[in-house]
Amino acid sequence: MIDDYRAKGLRKKLVRTLQEKGIKDEAVLKAILDIPRHFFFDDIFLDHAYEDKAFPIGNEQTISQPYTVAVQSSLLSIKPGDKVLEIGTGSGYQAAILSKLGAEVYSVEVIKPLFMKARMLLTDMRLHAKMFLGDGSKGLPNLAPFDKIIVTAGGPKVPELLIDQLKTGGILVIPVGDKQVQRMLRIIKKSDKELITEDHGTFRFVPLTGGDGWR
Ligand code: SAH
Repeated sequence: MIDDYRAKGLRKKLVRTLQEKGIKDEAVLKAILDIPRHFFFDDIFLDHAYEDKAFPIGNEQTISQPYTVAVQSSLLSIKPGDKVLEIGTGSGYQAAILSKLGAEVYSVEVIKPLFMKARMLLTDMRLHAKMFLGDGSKGLPNLAPFDKIIVTAGGPKVPELLIDQLKTGGILVIPVGDKQVQRMLRIIKKSDKELITEDHGTFRFVPLTGGDGWR
């Protein structure tokens, strides 16, 4: 894997595009500038890696659009050392961004070949993320609580078990809707009884499967 000046130049351009679309979080923009997104693509698709588009990664799944990664990462307000659970590792790109932001990342993927590929890639890139194979729709109860939880597949509802696995003051960012289109929700756990739910607009994700997703 080679990260050359051409790729770096394309990343600078991508960052400018994201700024024009309203992304302001400097740490997130820096992480996108630093992480070679083309490493997460098969060679043949290298030219597509720096367009602001989602792209197929095999097994009917996609690497999220950079704008979506930027929005979700910004909504999480990552502080270095935050313990973050990601559901839907996919290519591993979002996990790499979170790791670059200084988070202690726990990422779950249900499709084995994707899990294997992402785990190998992040290890090669010397990015530390703990990777798990299995249904993440119920979180990782044995490793809870988490400061932040991010779901990168669209589900029909907010899984209650994910709220349970958040610390007080914790944040869950999750797209919720039907199988075609979802609303990006940010849920802040003020206390065990009080949740603040914000709506951050329309997005399109592949479906969240599993027990608390689309069965
Ligand atoms: N964050 C990814 C985007 C992946 S697309 C990236 O940066 O590339 C969503 C991923 O969620 C797919 O790989 C899909 O297999 C996975 N997924 C869907 N339902 C899941 C579940 N219940 N548990 C774990 N992963 C799931």
